[in-house]
Amino acid sequence: MTKPLTIAVDGPGSAGKGTVARGVARTLRYQYIDTGAMYRAVALMALRNGVSWDDVDGLAELASRLEFRFAFEGDVLRVLVDGNDVTSAIRSDEIGMGASMVSKHAPVRTALLQLQRDLGAAGGVVMDGRDIGTVVLPDAELKVYLDADLEVRARRRHEELLRRGTPQPYDRVRDALAKRDRQDMERATAPLKAAEDAVMLDTTDLTIENATRAILLLARERGA
Ligand code: C5P
Repeated sequence: MTKPLTIAVDGPGSAGKGTVARGVARTLRYQYIDTGAMYRAVALMALRNGVSWDDVDGLAELASRLEFRFAFEGDVLRVLVDGNDVTSAIRSDEIGMGASMVSKHAPVRTALLQLQRDLGAAGGVVMDGRDIGTVVLPDAELKVYLDADLEVRARRRHEELLRRGTPQPYDRVRDALAKRDRQDMERATAPLKAAEDAVMLDTTDLTIENATRAILLLARERGA
């Protein structure tokens, strides 16, 4: 039997990473791992504990004190902090921005890195994030960098918020997305960028289904 692959999916917000990674994982019967949820959990717990998203020492202390548990229920990553389920609470745009603020601090990234590497060690995973191909799993057999024009990504995010019953004006969604991407790309530690050996996939004119199919073809070529 061939060894199950490790697949890294990186890219800016709302490029379709989550949906594509989940679809690929489901077809290959691999585990989908959403690393953004981990940074979101740190941001949420900081907010709840009165620790500022700029307070590096406070965040590092918080990240080491709290017990984060990630439980897999199919392709949903349940996030438990000190036993409390925060899976839904971390999904707001406010917490998305908070995640981007806390994730620029090296001690916060260090606190989550080993956990992410351990989860990827045995293979058979599709992990999505910003630095998976560059830092977390540099030896991944398949690395994909998903991108799309800002307007297209903003429209997808806008529609997603509508579907969730938490609508926001389109301009606000687009500006927040642009700000978060800039922050993620310009940070010193593990910035968002494509690994040199990543396959670039632009989903501006591609449906998410076709993007998923394209990645599955690449995975099959590499032995999945
Ligand atoms: O993917 P998601 O939108 O949930 O990620 C939230 C934020 O977490 C990102 O904007 C980014 O700042 C941070 N993140 C990161 N590294 C990852 C995954 C997410 O810095 N591997």
